[in-house]
Amino acid sequence: MEKIKSFCINHDKLQKGFYVSRIDGDVITYDIRMVVPNRGPYLDNAGLHTFEHLFATYVRSSSYSDRIVYVGPMGCRTGFYYLTRDTMTKQEALDLFRETLDFMIGYHGPVPGAEAPRECGNWLNHDLEECREYAKDMKEVLKDWTPEMMVYPE
Ligand SMILES: [Zn+2]
Repeated sequence: MEKIKSFCINHDKLQKGFYVSRIDGDVITYDIRMVVPNRGPYLDNAGLHTFEHLFATYVRSSSYSDRIVYVGPMGCRTGFYYLTRDTMTKQEALDLFRETLDFMIGYHGPVPGAEAPRECGNWLNHDLEECREYAKDMKEVLKDWTPEMMVYPE
């Protein structure tokens, strides 16, 4: 089988950040790297899970909703995939993610989509406090981030 493109990036050089992973037609895949690969500690599943619910809820409720294709966690628990249409600029995608982080940091309600077992596949496995810590950390990482910085290190 072919080695897919996202396995070809050099994970030894990858730092926390916000990168363009690939472009397929009009869909841009961003790699939001929240933990340095292979160094740990990895994102804890409960915090990662809450992050996923709040991330998806916020961007799908935003004015960019129809340009969001997908958001979801990486299996290696070092970050998230964030897919948008190319009608949303890289700056807009970054700004919307930063807004999402502020939303998470200020959020204290019930986790959307996790208020009953019928809403989620593992509804008790959530940690809002941990999600907020991840959001604070990424806010710091991305505070001076620009579209020019979205290129993977060689
Ligand atoms: Zn869930």
